[in-house]
Amino acid sequence: MSRILVAECKQEISSFNPVIGTYDNFSIRRGPELLTYHQGRETELCGALQVFADSHIDVIPTYGAVAPSAGPLDQQDFERLAAELLDAVTPHLAEADGMYFCLHGAMGCTEELDPEGYLLQQIRHAAGPDFPIVISQDLHGILTHRMLEHSNGLAIYHTYPHVDLADTGRRAAYLLLQVLAGAQPVVARVRVPALVRGNELITASGVYGETIRYCQALEEQPDILAAGMMIGNPFTDVPELCSQAIVVADADPDLARNEALHLATDFWERRALMQPDLVSVEDAVAQAPQYSGPVLFTDAADAPSSGATGDSNVLLQALHASGYSGQVLAPLVDAPAAYMAHDAGLGARIHVVLGGSLDSRFAPLDLEVEVTQLGDGEYLCESWNTPQHAGPTAVLESDNLTIVCVSRSVPFIDRSVFIAHDINPKDYDLIVIKSPHCQWHFFDEWAEINFNVDAPGSTSANLPTLGHRVCQRPMYPLELDAPFTPVAEMFGTGA
Ligand SMILES: [Zn+2]
Repeated sequence: MSRILVAECKQEISSFNPVIGTYDNFSIRRGPELLTYHQGRETELCGALQVFADSHIDVIPTYGAVAPSAGPLDQQDFERLAAELLDAVTPHLAEADGMYFCLHGAMGCTEELDPEGYLLQQIRHAAGPDFPIVISQDLHGILTHRMLEHSNGLAIYHTYPHVDLADTGRRAAYLLLQVLAGAQPVVARVRVPALVRGNELITASGVYGETIRYCQALEEQPDILAAGMMIGNPFTDVPELCSQAIVVADADPDLARNEALHLATDFWERRALMQPDLVSVEDAVAQAPQYSGPVLFTDAADAPSSGATGDSNVLLQALHASGYSGQVLAPLVDAPAAYMAHDAGLGARIHVVLGGSLDSRFAPLDLEVEVTQLGDGEYLCESWNTPQHAGPTAVLESDNLTIVCVSRSVPFIDRSVFIAHDINPKDYDLIVIKSPHCQWHFFDEWAEINFNVDAPGSTSANLPTLGHRVCQRPMYPLELDAPFTPVAEMFGTGA
């Protein structure tokens, strides 16, 4: 019977977030904890473990580290994490037939800019050249030469917003089983010098979805083991940041190369469609009162899920200053305000300074608020059924503003933080959403309009304003005339 070693290390960072991330941001699971945690979750490991169980494969759970998105991870903290992971993995390599390593792909540290590549290199070094290693990647991951050099194949998310985490884990597990059964994966990647954002990335409705469906059709072919179109996280400013077409074929380099070149060329031709349609803060605030139905203000520039601080008050400031009279609902990461509310107690009226506690580009907003709810910040994410740890929370109300304040950064990709406080967003006239996109039925289905607001922040879709310094240049749209010469890099050919 085969024995498969499993491990996990996932985080996504924004290089433009001024707050350095720490080890303490990670939820660590060791050994059997990894198995019990993933039962019943919408996660890659849940999907992979089902496949291994169905195939009567013996699983060796080793180590899992998962953190919410954040700023760059402190180098020493990464080294501690890496040492723990490698110490948990390496003693079991001799007894295992292969490894599934679940990664996000958009980690970054204050020094090491390819942490996942480092981990894979260390595992490969300990395991030897013939040990099968299959990984999985978020489509926002930044797959590197080193990661490909030290792994045998990969599965990539096919949905945005992401609803196929478990399916990606299943595909990775099947790929690993195929390798154990004798498949010889060759990987072609074609790097595309384009960063993309905007509504056309929604895979259910946008042009990016057409690319993904082509990848899925490829995966139906007998000689193709996996395919994907990765777009990278544009805020992770690392040397290999770009979009990339990936095709994994079984012992057929020409097939992998040709399909990856086709995917990349087609994607490049549509790059201009995959750019955001942004509205200035002033225009959005001026137009909002004209709508009778709920209005959404998408503040993707301050999306914790993309690596921002989540403490931008720019839209609250603008709405407050404009005299907008509708009921406004907004989430905010603000530990000092949340703790102050807990100290004051339920029902207290307090003066707070809201926003800008982490990212100094946001000027503090002084408000008198009533503390209408207090919570412990422990709740489940409605998208993935995974536990969230938002720290002490408080719902603060000031005239027409309702602010759900959390003290630790958590993704605001859905309604979880509102549901946790018995708040129904439908009861509000204007909802601030700190995520580039959410699943359609969460908000857009019942809202009248969604303004994608061009506010400042470390995950702004207005990419040329961010100040990339590390990624390769020229890069569209940082340089609108960036050229593209399609070249396939090949891995696993033995060449
Ligand atoms: Zn993602």
